[in-house]
Amino acid sequence: MRIPRNVVERVRDTSDILSIVQDYVRLKKAGSNYLGLCPFHREKTPSFNVSPANGFFKCFGCGKGGDTITFVMEIERLEFVDAIRWLADRAGIEIPKTEEGKKAYDKRESVYEALRFASEYYVGKLNDPASGAQAREYLLGRALTEKTISRFSVGYAPDSWDGLIKAAEKAHIKLETLKKAGLVIERQDGKGYYDRFRERIMFPIQSHVGKFVGFGGRLLADNPKAPKYLNSPETEVYHKSTVLYGLFQSKRMARQEASILLVEGYTDVLALDQAGIGSAACCGTALTLQQVGLLGRYAKEIRLLYDADRAGAAATERAIDVVLQGGVAASVVSLPEGEDPDSFVREKGADAFRLHLKTATKDWVDAFFLASLSDNGFGTLHKKRQAISKVAQRIAYMKDDILRKMYVQKASQLFAISERDMAYEITRQASSNQAQQQPSQTLREENASAAPVNFDAISESEKTLLQLMLEEGAPMIKYILGNMAYDEFQEGPSQRLVDLLIETHEAHGDEVQSAFRSGKANADEITQQLIVDILMPRHEISKGWGAKKINVPRLNEKSKRIAEDCMMRVKGAVVKREIQRVRHEMMNAPEGSEDRGRLQKKYLNQKRYLLRINNRKLFED
Ligand SMILES: [Zn+2]
Repeated sequence: MRIPRNVVERVRDTSDILSIVQDYVRLKKAGSNYLGLCPFHREKTPSFNVSPANGFFKCFGCGKGGDTITFVMEIERLEFVDAIRWLADRAGIEIPKTEEGKKAYDKRESVYEALRFASEYYVGKLNDPASGAQAREYLLGRALTEKTISRFSVGYAPDSWDGLIKAAEKAHIKLETLKKAGLVIERQDGKGYYDRFRERIMFPIQSHVGKFVGFGGRLLADNPKAPKYLNSPETEVYHKSTVLYGLFQSKRMARQEASILLVEGYTDVLALDQAGIGSAACCGTALTLQQVGLLGRYAKEIRLLYDADRAGAAATERAIDVVLQGGVAASVVSLPEGEDPDSFVREKGADAFRLHLKTATKDWVDAFFLASLSDNGFGTLHKKRQAISKVAQRIAYMKDDILRKMYVQKASQLFAISERDMAYEITRQASSNQAQQQPSQTLREENASAAPVNFDAISESEKTLLQLMLEEGAPMIKYILGNMAYDEFQEGPSQRLVDLLIETHEAHGDEVQSAFRSGKANADEITQQLIVDILMPRHEISKGWGAKKINVPRLNEKSKRIAEDCMMRVKGAVVKREIQRVRHEMMNAPEGSEDRGRLQKKYLNQKRYLLRINNRKLFED
């Protein structure tokens, strides 16, 4: 479905690239721009730039760049129209729906809509005094406040086989869509469907950007025949291994604190959030590398806070492996025997919990050492040897040399072996880690789909001319294009951008700059990439030209002078090539021939022209 042009423009105008990128990348201010680790390729030193002033991002590592829409398309793997929808959704801009548009509505989008509808339905049932009383009593009994309940859109699925189905029917949501959303189950006799979730407290699972993707349902009444927790199945929009419950609500806190707690249950997340502490939980799966990657966008450290029981201890050990493998720091928070975060906060209060966090957080290596010990130490030397291998394997995941050395020191002390032996064991483990790690490394690289274009072939002078026109607008476009021939710009993207400048100048007059800035200029993908390349700080004129010993004052004062310099160089290069060509032809022409005379004349003309260029006698105001 086509989205009206004015809506696209409004979306472009209102979407703030900084806040959008920050949902995915930790950014640091660097001058007027922001810098971070590229989400599209693996890197250790940041080369991913965001320029809020231009509304652009650009990675100098993999070459990806563009505006907010491009970013959303790439990171969420959406088509243009869906990216606009996604941004409109986020900004609260309504996209008018025609009847025809409704039909063509993207399938995925309709599944999201069904899930959103279901969430509203469950919230409504919880708030309904008739159906929701018992569920509310349960939630408030767990000391959850109204605010928390609504912040996480907690709801209730009543004891009915077709409550949701009927409500959805009224809202013109197809049964087929409910099925795709995992909300209904087909009857065994094949005659119709029934609601998947019944008589359950409903915890909607949201993606980290807030889309409803599935549900976790907790049984309200004790019923030994039904599972206590029931989760949505995997659907085309719900992939358990890539989603974390609560991350949407806690990502801001995670970024502020540079750490996030990983807990086991939905109610743990709620209780902690209420206490002002950010946390997230896996939904019925073990922690995956993808989830660690997602958490790593917000937090430098993942603190594992699993239940204080055997299952919790085992899950903690597994999680440490994955967190370290994902390149994020890991620590472990222990709880008193038998407690979970929810019960601890409820009984002892938020302040006591925060204090506990401070005192009971241990580095994973200390926690692991303690966990390996039983009443009689390691028990056997064989067990101790196994523990050493495990520690070495984990240290081997670390990429930072200093950090690794610190861990070698620490671990060799704990396990009472020499640092040399520990270092040797780490090297041994590193090679087996590498063998295991191969498949996961391609995860992110798959994201890098469209090949970035390299504009190195376009000379700096030419880029500067294009930059001046883009930045200074109408007067500069008139000046430069008044003095440059079209063919003096390089064939391909460069000439296309000149075309676009002319076209946009004709359509928008003196508003040409803002037309470019707000995306009203009709740039194709490659031209768009060129614009980004040109406007990114790498080509800051004052720097680049200063280094080339061309005496050029600041852009805003003397941009005309810079333009002259560039035109001179671009023209000069073109003419020099032409002079060489003519000279070559002239030498090959027979002496005294007519051809030779003509070429000689041309050669001299070109020489004179070059002189005029070099003396700047060429440029008209
Ligand atoms: Zn990159």
